[in-house]
Amino acid sequence: MDSRVNGGLTYNDFLILPGYIDFPASEVSLETKITKNITLKTPFVSSPMDTVTESEMAINIALLGGIGVIHNNCSPDEQAEMVRKVKKFENGFITDPVCLTPKHTVADVHRIKAQFGYSGIPITVLDVSLPKVSYEMDMMNKNCITFVLPNANGKLYSILLGIVTARDIQFHEDHTTLLKDVMTTDLVVAHEGVTLEEANQILRCSKRGKLPIVNSRGELVALLARSDLLKNLNFPLASKSPHSKQLICAAAIGTRFEDKARLRKLVDAGLDIVVLDSSQGNSSYQVEMIQYIKKTYSETLEVIAGNVVTREQAARLIEAGADALRVGMGSGSICITQEVMAVGRPQGTAVYMVAQFAKKFGIPVIADGGIQNIGHITKALALGASSVMMGGLLAGTTESPGDYFYHEGQRLKKYRGMGSLDAMERNICGTSSNNNNTAAGRYFSERDVIKVAQGVAGAVIDKGSIRKFVPYLMTGLQHALQDVGVKSISQLWENAESGKLRFELRTVAAQVEGGVHGLFS
Ligand code: GDP
Ligand code: 5GP
Repeated sequence: MDSRVNGGLTYNDFLILPGYIDFPASEVSLETKITKNITLKTPFVSSPMDTVTESEMAINIALLGGIGVIHNNCSPDEQAEMVRKVKKFENGFITDPVCLTPKHTVADVHRIKAQFGYSGIPITVLDVSLPKVSYEMDMMNKNCITFVLPNANGKLYSILLGIVTARDIQFHEDHTTLLKDVMTTDLVVAHEGVTLEEANQILRCSKRGKLPIVNSRGELVALLARSDLLKNLNFPLASKSPHSKQLICAAAIGTRFEDKARLRKLVDAGLDIVVLDSSQGNSSYQVEMIQYIKKTYSETLEVIAGNVVTREQAARLIEAGADALRVGMGSGSICITQEVMAVGRPQGTAVYMVAQFAKKFGIPVIADGGIQNIGHITKALALGASSVMMGGLLAGTTESPGDYFYHEGQRLKKYRGMGSLDAMERNICGTSSNNNNTAAGRYFSERDVIKVAQGVAGAVIDKGSIRKFVPYLMTGLQHALQDVGVKSISQLWENAESGKLRFELRTVAAQVEGGVHGLFS
C-alpha cells in the first residue's frame, strides 16, 4: 500500500463553517436542475427501489416539487401503468381522457373508477348523423345535446354527447343500466384553441366538475377537471412539464436489449426522464443504451446515467450523451457492495470529484445514497450535487409501497436493497410467471446460478406521510443554507468555488461532540 491509496471523505467527516445572515430562511430558493433541461423547485429525488417508488410516491413527491423514479423490478406493462398514473394525476388539459359510449353501462364506470380513480367520463359517438342528434349551442358557449344513439365508439375525436359523473350513478343500484339513461347532457363546453387560463376561468364560473373541450364539429378533443384547479392551488411547487402541465415522471430501466421494448412502453405512457439503473455505470451496455436513447428519443426524453464515482466513469457517460449523472457506489443504507466487492468510494469524495468534472459540461449530478438527514443533504449540495436521491429516508412513509406491520410494538414497513437476495429472486409487484429479474440485472447477475448479494433486506420505522416529511426536509434545508449565508443552491456553488464557503474536517472526537451526549435519558 503506498501513495496509490488516497483518502476519501464522507458526509460525517466534515462540517461547513457558518456565513452571514441578512435574510429570512423562507427567501432561500431550492430550485435546481435534475437534468440538463429539466428544472425542479426542490432537490429531492426518490430512489428507483421496489420498496420506495411506485406511482403513489412519484405523484406525491412531484406535487411537492421533487421527483420520484419508478422502479423496474416488475413487468414492463406494470411499470408503464405506474407511469401513466403519474402523468394522468394532475392535468392541465387531459388530452387523452377515458371516454365511453352511450351503450356502456354503469358497471363500466365503476370499473374505471376502481382502476384509475376517476368517474367523470365523457360519452362520445363516432360519425353521428346529425338528423338523429339535435346539437344546440346557446349564447354562453353551452352545448345542450339531446341524442338518439348512432354507432358508438367512446373515443376521443368523436362527437361528444354527454358526460357521466359520480353524482349520476351515486345511488344507481342497477349496474346494467346503459349510460345513455344516466348521463348528463346539459353541458358547458369550451372550444378548441382556448388557452388553459381561459378554460380554467370557464370551469370556475360553470361550477361543474369537468369542462370538455370540443372542436368545430362538436368532437371531444380534451377535458379539464375542477379538482386540478384545487391541486394547483395546494401544490404551487409541483414539478410539471411546462407545456402539458402534467407531473414530470421518471422511471428506471436496465441496459440490456429487452429494456428497449420496456422503454417504448414507458415513453408511450408519457415518460419524461429515463434513469439507467446500474450499480456500476461504466459499461459498454450503458454507453450503447445512452446512444440508442439519444438517437431514438432525442426530442422527448432526458437520460440520467450511472452510477459513477470517478471522473473516468463520468467522462465516458457524458461523452455518450448523458443528461445527468447519478453518483454513489456502496454508500446506501442497505448496500454491502463496498464490503463484498471491495469496490466503491466514500460518498463525499465521489460527489465532489464527479460534480467538479461534470459541471464543465453543464451536466447535473445526483448524489445517490447515504443521505440520513438534512445535514447530509446540505453537504451533498455544497459538494456540487444538484439534487439528492433518497431511498431509506423515504422508505416507511405512507406513500412507499408495501403494508405496515408491527414488531415489538413498532409500526414498520419493509425496505430492501435492489441487490438483496430478496429483491433479486422475487418481484414485489410481478407474479411468479412474470419474473423479469431486473433487480439482478442492475448488478450484472441475471445469468448467475448462484447470486451474490450486494444489499440487504430489513424494515424501517413508520415515518408518516411525505406530505409532511418532504416539507420538513425543505424547510430544514432552507435554514441550513441560511446558516451558511446563501440564498440559493447556485450561490452555494459560487461561494464554494470562490473559497467563501469553508469546510472543516471533523475528527472522531468532534463527531462525538456534535452528536447528542451527556444526557441521563
Ligand atoms: P372524478 O370526478 O371522479 O372524475 O374525479 P376528479 O375530477 O376528482 O379527479 C380526476 C383526476 O384524474 C384529475 O386530477 C384529472 O386530471 C385526472 N385524470 C387524468 N386522466 C383523466 C381522465 O381520463 N378522465 C378523468 N375524468 N380524469 C382524469
Ligand atoms: P439510501 O438512501 O437508502 O442510503 O440509499 C439508496 C440507494 O442505494 C439507491 O438509490 C441505490 O443507488 C442504492 N441501492 C439500492 N439497493 C442497493 C443494493 O442492494 N446494493 C447497493 N450496493 N446499492 C443499492
